[in-house]
Amino acid sequence: MRVPMIAGNWKMNTTVNEATALVNEMRPGLDEIDKVDKVICPPFISLAAVKELIKGSSIQLGAQNIYFKEKGAYTGEISPLMLADLCEFVIIGHSERRQYFNETGEIVNKKVRAALRVGLKPILCIGERLEENETGKTEEVVTKQLRSSLAGIKYPSDLVIAYEPVWAIGTGKAATGEQANETIGLIRRNIAKLYDKEIAENLRILYGGSVTTENIAEFVEQPEIGGALVGGASLKAAEFLSIVKQTSEIRVVREAQEA
Ligand code: PEP
Repeated sequence: MRVPMIAGNWKMNTTVNEATALVNEMRPGLDEIDKVDKVICPPFISLAAVKELIKGSSIQLGAQNIYFKEKGAYTGEISPLMLADLCEFVIIGHSERRQYFNETGEIVNKKVRAALRVGLKPILCIGERLEENETGKTEEVVTKQLRSSLAGIKYPSDLVIAYEPVWAIGTGKAATGEQANETIGLIRRNIAKLYDKEIAENLRILYGGSVTTENIAEFVEQPEIGGALVGGASLKAAEFLSIVKQTSEIRVVREAQEA
């Protein structure tokens, strides 16, 4: 049975002081919840401070981006080696990076490889845009993104995938549980073709896009959905805690059903 994951993507929000305050507010409650992997992804500048604050807790740390070169004259970039010391996870290929920073499938692929080389676990984001969804191209787009992101990569056991339809991110217009479940099932079938069935079964595929305390249950109750990548709602301690708590409770019920 897959352990669900809830990952909070803080995006370009919080100063170091604000990040510190947010973690202090979340830590006690988050630490009490089990049966869920809890990951927070603050901005780069807060990673070191947050790492100290979550020491000894069950909360894990992720970065929001990575550069694929190890070191050198790449002003302003953050290398895999720098991150490997700080965190366990790294978000790669978020649609905001594809859209505003021209990240192509080839770049995403290089970043996934770079992360794996230093033992960072990629949270690989894929998802279709609104017009692609409306013209029935979801399957084609998601399959293409998946294949280009993982091209030439021997199966990375530490991979997490986040299916994030672009039209649902930050819009308040989430997909339905059934829609997300269907596309995530398709992604899993593709992973089975690329690698094998067992690998596909064990892979955690998250849903992301306007997840809130009101709709989280609708997603994590679905059999294919392995948790959520949460943007806006991860910046509010009470809301993030409720999302994690509901996920844990649903997992407990499922365990009892399958026992
Ligand atoms: C995200 O940043 O990955 C995201 C899903 O954002 P939001 O939850 O705000 O839609």
